[in-house]
Amino acid sequence: MTRTIFLLAASHSYRAGPFLAAAAELGLAVRVVTDVPAPLADLWQQPLGVDFNDVPAATAALIRLGQEHQVGAILAVDDSGSLLAARASAALGLPHNAPAAAEAARDKLLMRSLLAPAGVPCPAFFPFTTADDPAAIAAQVPYPCVVKPTRRSGSQGVMRADTPAELVATVGRLGRLLVQVTGHPGPHPILVESFIPGFEVALEGLLDGGQLHVLALFDKPDPLDGPFFEETIYVTPSRLPAGTQQAIAACAAQAAAALGLRQGPVHAELRVNAAGPWLVEVAGRSIGGLCSRILRFGVDEAAGEGASLEALILRQAAGLPLPPLNREAAARGVMMIPIPAGGLLRRVAGLAEAKALPGIDDVEITAPLNNLLRPLPEGDSYLGFIFARGDSPGRVEAALRQAHQQLDFTIEPVISLAGTPQAT
Ligand code: ADP
Ligand code: CA
Repeated sequence: MTRTIFLLAASHSYRAGPFLAAAAELGLAVRVVTDVPAPLADLWQQPLGVDFNDVPAATAALIRLGQEHQVGAILAVDDSGSLLAARASAALGLPHNAPAAAEAARDKLLMRSLLAPAGVPCPAFFPFTTADDPAAIAAQVPYPCVVKPTRRSGSQGVMRADTPAELVATVGRLGRLLVQVTGHPGPHPILVESFIPGFEVALEGLLDGGQLHVLALFDKPDPLDGPFFEETIYVTPSRLPAGTQQAIAACAAQAAAALGLRQGPVHAELRVNAAGPWLVEVAGRSIGGLCSRILRFGVDEAAGEGASLEALILRQAAGLPLPPLNREAAARGVMMIPIPAGGLLRRVAGLAEAKALPGIDDVEITAPLNNLLRPLPEGDSYLGFIFARGDSPGRVEAALRQAHQQLDFTIEPVISLAGTPQAT
């Protein structure tokens, strides 16, 4: 009998679902361990709820659970539990990335301080905290630059500044955002980086014994030049020349090695310009949101659908042989539908029309109706996802844009007592 695999997932994560589906298909026993604040775990009757923010207590709880349940592997399905998974795995003698590597893969300052000396092409970076004087920061950094929190994701709080005045404004805005989203007054660590011009790609990979297998390389055809950095379209295969793609893979592999990542999924983001690829970040997890739905591996015309990304990751964790890691031949794409304005989402129109378009597999609106939407840089979610396939990346991109145009979102502004919109 195979041992149980623990999946660590934030309580709001979309990622647990596809892992559970893949586990059911593979006949693997899995248990989801959710991030639940300790006092609420009993109340919500979540026997496998632990508070991911309290790493020592959560690690101890996880080790205890692991011993009780005969655990075979501990996987974090998103960034929130990666350090916990690494520490508990180390204590239980389970195969996993070293805790220091897991920590570096989710902390942007730690990451930069390991990548730069290893010779991985990176922007110049300058660590500060929200308690530092913004005018003093503005006097020390190059322009244009990017201001970002060290431990958020989805581009939340990431802002470009072209001048000292903009820098002062963005640092203030980031400070207020971090107080709000963490509930802590700070000071919070922040990072300023020189702005890397160029075209952006995302690489999905699987590390096996320190070797990187590229599972998919995505182009991000919408320019990401700021002032905020909204993810929208991902299309694979990449249309970049083969040599550029190889340089990207080599850069991502070098980055993973510099952090000490050796095992399991990696999701890397890079920018590419005349000087070659530059590492934006590399995370020790798989692609976020619902995006993995467009990936299929080892598709065999006779055998049908092929393996999902989650099936590959689970197989590796369970010590099962991996199927061929080649992605299917079709081009595939996904659009993370950005939030155009803050306010209450009242109505979504055009869904049926968008779904009916050629090349569109599905459109899923994930933002609940009558809920407050927050756009970037304060926000951390999307309206939903559009999934497309076609015989070329260009057709897939066009289908995604057409489908997006069909959608019409009614967002009602929320006026606070002070007369300023609450959602911005
Ligand atoms: P997050 O973890 O929130 O996604 P990232 O550091 O990946 O934060 O930044 C989000 C996006 O912001 C990147 O995908 C990229 O488009 C842009 N970005 C971040 N840092 C830089 C930089 N130094 N130069 C240019 N663009 C950047
Ligand atoms: Ca990122």
